[in-house]
Amino acid sequence: MSAASSATKSAASSGPSPAVMGTYGRFDVVFDRGEGSWLIDTKGERYLDFGSGIAVNALGHANPKLAAALAEQAQKLWHTSNLYRISGQEKLAEQLVANTFADKVFFGNSGAEACEGIIKLARRYQYVSGHPERWRIITFKGSFHGRTLGTIAAAGNEKYLEGFGEPAPGFDVLETVNDLALVEKAIGPATAAIMIEPIQGEGGIRVCTREFMQGLRALADKHGLLLILDEVQTGVGRTGKLFAYEWAGIKPDAMAIAKAIGGGFPMGAFLATEEAAKGMVPGTHGSTFGGNPLAMAVGNAVLETVLEPGFIEGVRQKALRFKQLLAGLKDEHGDVVEEIRGEGLLMGVKINAKLPAGDVVKACMAEHLLTVGAGDNVVRMIPPLTTADEDLAEGVSRLSRALTRAKKPQ
Ligand SMILES: *Cc1c(COP(=O)(O)O)cnc(C)c1O
Repeated sequence: MSAASSATKSAASSGPSPAVMGTYGRFDVVFDRGEGSWLIDTKGERYLDFGSGIAVNALGHANPKLAAALAEQAQKLWHTSNLYRISGQEKLAEQLVANTFADKVFFGNSGAEACEGIIKLARRYQYVSGHPERWRIITFKGSFHGRTLGTIAAAGNEKYLEGFGEPAPGFDVLETVNDLALVEKAIGPATAAIMIEPIQGEGGIRVCTREFMQGLRALADKHGLLLILDEVQTGVGRTGKLFAYEWAGIKPDAMAIAKAIGGGFPMGAFLATEEAAKGMVPGTHGSTFGGNPLAMAVGNAVLETVLEPGFIEGVRQKALRFKQLLAGLKDEHGDVVEEIRGEGLLMGVKINAKLPAGDVVKACMAEHLLTVGAGDNVVRMIPPLTTADEDLAEGVSRLSRALTRAKKPQ
């Protein structure tokens, strides 16, 4: 036993273990515990976390309320399968229905699964509406919907499709968001739905305009299509609304969520109106783990917290402060910072051609600030929604030092 534990230790100190499949280029750091917006590594060094495990830890690390909810459920019951009623699942579904456009919720385990399920929902909707020929989905370059065969085809990112054979059929990937004429032109007799992120997260915090989102709603209505939103990254308070579609003053027909709703416990879901979900009858979809009691205990605790009076208003106030700080950073580093973009606490620092954003992310690491790179040479700043104001300021000054560091010739 002592041999095993010393082997583990040496693996941690001598770089990533070759036993883990090399699909990620990882930083050589092992985190041991977390406290709110801070992570502490195995050497005891503290890092300010402005990546939130890629927009997952919305309520910070080791949140006492979430830990208690999980621990309490863990003592009682872990899993039963969806062959039986699950009280936590019914409760969370009802809370989501009460606070969104939706009438129905299906629970899965990840964002990709939620997107995959929602693609099935759209096709089934047209099928049971007497339009089996309508099964194609309009999507957008720069999107990210997950890493399954269906969702990589949906996003149409060549880098993620390369080497995996012919992409799954049925997606018309448009060149850009915010161009309604392009969408209208792409709608044909086989179109079932339009699927879009209100703000492209992985794609570089590219924000869809209010007019564009409203235009998509109108086009979908005019042509009998479903408007599907992927709010896996934008949802659950991240943008300063419970869901980003609220900013546009529209309602989708269906929506995928994941990431923050589990606060770090793996879960995802897709939501739909009664009408959009009408094809999803027994036998059409399923998941062994989806919506299990452990996930639901945490999901309920997350949603309850985010829905507490003043929480989302608090996110908007923090976001305003954060935007001001980032605007100051742009003034200070105007030679490399081209633009600050985003909404709420989903912000992107667009770096110009002089510097790869990846170098900035690395320099942030050296300043013990965790950030996440994104497409379009953007550094994503996605702190927990509970980050204290002084930590927001601390993060921006670390980013400023990191930019200075990254600009220096190596
Ligand atoms: C992360 C993400 C996904 C995929 O979620 P996974 O849990 O990694 O499968 C899908 N859509 C968006 C917008 C995302 O940000």
